Amino acid sequence: MTNSCSSRRFDYLSWTKAAEAASIEGSTLIWPFGACEQHGPHLPLATDNLFAERLAIEVLERIPTSMPIWMLPSQSLGFSPEHASFSGTISLSASLLLQLVMEVGKQLGDIGLSRLLFFNAHGGQIGLLQAAARQLRLECPSMAVLPCFLWSGVSGLKNLIPVDEIERGLHAGLAETSLMIALAPELVGEERPRDGDHSSSDSKATPPPGWTLEGVAPCAWLTEELSNSGVIGDSSEANLSLGKAIQHSLTDHWAQLLMALMESNWPPTIGTR
Ligand SMILES: [Zn+2]
Repeated sequence: MTNSCSSRRFDYLSWTKAAEAASIEGSTLIWPFGACEQHGPHLPLATDNLFAERLAIEVLERIPTSMPIWMLPSQSLGFSPEHASFSGTISLSASLLLQLVMEVGKQLGDIGLSRLLFFNAHGGQIGLLQAAARQLRLECPSMAVLPCFLWSGVSGLKNLIPVDEIERGLHAGLAETSLMIALAPELVGEERPRDGDHSSSDSKATPPPGWTLEGVAPCAWLTEELSNSGVIGDSSEANLSLGKAIQHSLTDHWAQLLMALMESNWPPTIGTR
């Protein structure tokens, strides 16, 4: 961790500085969320956590140091029941993760924090964190809660990744493998599986016509139903230059959104109830 990012770690502040920081108008905390779950035979269990943490640091390095924004240590255990049958996956229950987020969030609201942003890299807990955010927003009316998913809405990705892989490469495929090669090549194994193609008739499992794994008519899938290797997608063409391009695309996107947030007066003030 470089000096500039350790100066952004909220838990590196003293309690007096933390009190001061939280009370600044527009004070914002980024809370990275990952998981400890299988990512095929070639990527580490901590893949999502490493993405959330490293990219949060990179994004923060783009924000002027005068702006009141810090990060929390990442939440490295998440909600991953879909990968439970693969060794090494350690999942919290939905109720435990929800309770954890609520307890931490309420304490941050109590010290006057203006905004709490979940920077989540695990697709399996998007809905849960959105529910937690809505509930927190109700209980801490002066604190904005922004439940973001790292890979959502990043328009640059469609120029980098084939549309089939964007739609069907749900896990440890081209995008995640390439990004990990760019961020931590020492953690990437030799295998490059192509697995879990749920669109073809000879695949392990195919949703009924009109139904999809994610999106408009989703099924709550389990990885073991779709894939032997744990990969859902095609990692065969993963490479460093694509990984770097994905890294820049994600960082540019989130730095731009964070700047807009920091320059705004969000959240709107709620009248006395
Ligand atoms: Zn992942």
